Amino acid sequence: MAVSKFHPVPELLEAYQAGQRCFGENRPQEFSMKAVQLPQDIEWHFIGHLQTNKLKMVLPYASLVQSIDSRHLLDLVDNWGRTNGKVISILLELHLGAEETKGGFTQEEIESLLEEYVNAEPGTLFAGIRFCGLMGIASHTEDEEIIDADFARIEAFKKHLEERFPQLTDFKELSIGMSGDWKIALRHGATIIRVGTAIFGPRVY
Ligand SMILES: *Cc1c(COP(=O)(O)O)cnc(C)c1O
Repeated sequence: MAVSKFHPVPELLEAYQAGQRCFGENRPQEFSMKAVQLPQDIEWHFIGHLQTNKLKMVLPYASLVQSIDSRHLLDLVDNWGRTNGKVISILLELHLGAEETKGGFTQEEIESLLEEYVNAEPGTLFAGIRFCGLMGIASHTEDEEIIDADFARIEAFKKHLEERFPQLTDFKELSIGMSGDWKIALRHGATIIRVGTAIFGPRVY
């Protein structure tokens, strides 16, 4: 997936003309502006922290929301989906690494949430949500051993969840790896890598 945040529309079009059909953005306003301007066969992924008052800018256009990082947000997205007659495809963001400030669920939170879901009467809980897998951002470091350990942990956790909840047939995606660490991510079963700088060059903030 090409992370096109901060890059202007003509640069995205150039990537589109080269065959790229999946783009990711992390700011709601920029996301919706690009989604309406660019060709309609693009698959748009949202990858940023989603503020609860910005759902309606993002959810109409997102084919995958990769960055569901709290139960509160999950509940609101579910509610939006049910209200609008849609099922929203999402990834649960697992908190990786040591940084206190970074968002995301713990493993325990994800496990108990999915357990609650599979044990509920069919159609009563999260009817507006399709659980498609996990997303993770490795520790912010140059140390490849630490990144390797982060990706090994999320890979093992995903395998564990697939074995524990075989009824979750859509739970297939593992979104890990960015420009600096995608090669390590591929060794750990990434199904989606999120590459910005290595495609578009540095961002001008
Ligand atoms: C910006 C961003 C990326 C892309 O980072 P690059 O280093 O430019 O490839 C990937 N994932 C998330 C969540 C991002 O916010």
